[in-house]
Amino acid sequence: MINFEEMGFTPGILKAIQELGFEQPMPVQKKVIPLMLGDESDIIALAQTGTGKTAAFGLPLVQATDTEINSTQALILCPTRELCIQITGDLTDYARFTGKLKILAVYGGASIDNQIRGLKKGVHIIVATPGRLIDLIGRGAAKLSNVNTVILDEADEMLNMGFLDSINEILEEIPEGRRTLLFSATMSSEIASIARKYMNNPAEITIGTKNSSAENVSHAYYFVHAKDKYKVLKRIVDFEPDIYAIVFCRTRKDTQEVASKLINDGYNVDALHGDLSQSQRDAVMQKFRSKNLNMLVATDVAARGLDVDDLTHVINFSLPDDPEIYTHRCGRTGRAGKTGISISLVHLRERQELQKIERLVKKPFKALSIPTGSEICGKQLFNWVNKIETVATDHQEIEKFLPEIKMKLEGLDREELLKRVISLEFNRFLDDYRHGDDLVDPVPEKDSSFGRTGRKGSREQYPGNYKRLFINLGKSDGFYPEQLIDLVNINTRGRKIPIGKIDLLKTFSFFEVEAGHADDLIGALNNAKFKERRVTVEIAQEKTDKPRNGEYSGRKPAKWSNRSPEKRRQRSVFIE
Ligand code: AMP
Repeated sequence: MINFEEMGFTPGILKAIQELGFEQPMPVQKKVIPLMLGDESDIIALAQTGTGKTAAFGLPLVQATDTEINSTQALILCPTRELCIQITGDLTDYARFTGKLKILAVYGGASIDNQIRGLKKGVHIIVATPGRLIDLIGRGAAKLSNVNTVILDEADEMLNMGFLDSINEILEEIPEGRRTLLFSATMSSEIASIARKYMNNPAEITIGTKNSSAENVSHAYYFVHAKDKYKVLKRIVDFEPDIYAIVFCRTRKDTQEVASKLINDGYNVDALHGDLSQSQRDAVMQKFRSKNLNMLVATDVAARGLDVDDLTHVINFSLPDDPEIYTHRCGRTGRAGKTGISISLVHLRERQELQKIERLVKKPFKALSIPTGSEICGKQLFNWVNKIETVATDHQEIEKFLPEIKMKLEGLDREELLKRVISLEFNRFLDDYRHGDDLVDPVPEKDSSFGRTGRKGSREQYPGNYKRLFINLGKSDGFYPEQLIDLVNINTRGRKIPIGKIDLLKTFSFFEVEAGHADDLIGALNNAKFKERRVTVEIAQEKTDKPRNGEYSGRKPAKWSNRSPEKRRQRSVFIE
């Protein structure tokens, strides 16, 4: 396996690589860097954002730039201001230990006078959006006659944004002997025609499959009634306590509406769309990047160039008009070696659009069923319980208040105290979800027209998540969720075993456990005793309406709404 040290970088560049914490070259770097450092060939690289392509072209480019010559030697064209700034920042990092490299970002929406002043001082590498660069060439500020390397980054995005004419105009300005590199997520006929016109026998590199989305992204969808879209979005978000996501909408109006509703409902989100001024957009992006926002609701255009590496989810509140755009959306998660999921909310009428996207992406899309209220409460609750286990406490600060607090809460036993603390923390979820208004899944049970079976019988949440177990204890044994959780905790000695839905019946019960822990838990509980009774746990049979061994009635578990308020309160503490 080739590593950075063997690639022919100077000690200064290697030091920068080390400081950046890059241990191994990413696949695009393994392919592009040797070509760039080796011969003079042109390169077309089909690679998504997030694959490490900036370093792939940036590290060799910085090394090849002669800082003794005071003229512009390289030009990087990219679609947005944000990407310009990002690339300039990255190149500056690569050049930290290699002398006085001057790199300037020039883009629209900022003072052109400052940019002209910057260019006049002499710049080795210009990073530009096409429109502004044309302006600067026209004013005689940008001089490209000594440029020997041109990099077209996110070329497909530039074309989508209507920059074809500007790109042609710019490339006409640059001497023919130059080297040209073109990076694009997808290969279209326009890209091929630019390559034919301006590139010389380019080497073609593909990272992942052509026109397919990033390897680390999985794809899923919910079929929803149009009227339920917002509610489903909320459920997805509530089901993912640590979500960090972009929610894509098709129009500015939808974007603003969805963001406003989420803000009103207490979520930490903001909107990003074309009606905002540049400074408003910058402020929103900054908040999102620094994770002061968990979610950004955005139009496709506004989210271009927003570079964030660790998105957990991309949510397609509406499918894009053009399937190609989907590949750009989902490429925003699963970056820098991490995994991500792209989730679409799809109306039944949109199934054909979904199929088109599925064909383009060349990966299976998984149908999910909408999380029920009790699943959401359970997920949130256990996430919170896990946090309690690991939180760092400032003992000294707290201790001085403890005697008084203890006195005030003297009359409450441990269980009552827990219930109250949980109620305080979870009232929003409990209020939202306790009334049993679970959303109706519009998918017919057997949806042959979509080429796959509906979700009958399997309550599939995130792929492969839970297994349903049978236990030989029920309410008549005094066995309630508290007792189940205690039984699990005691017999697994503190191993964290996520428990899902619990269905309590009279003489036996069912409960779910995260699939990876099922065998472990079955082993642990089958050796256990509950009030002197030997516990039996096994993988549950599929639900059936027929009695099981003469005792299982197949009765569906009670819903929130069927219970007395007293019971609801009790259960609200645990998972149904
Ligand atoms: P890019 O595709 O250029 O936007 O890069 C995506 C992310 O990967 C950026 O945050 C880079 O800092 C990071 N990155 C690039 N190369 C490497 C590497 N060899 N090892 C680890 N991270 C990298």
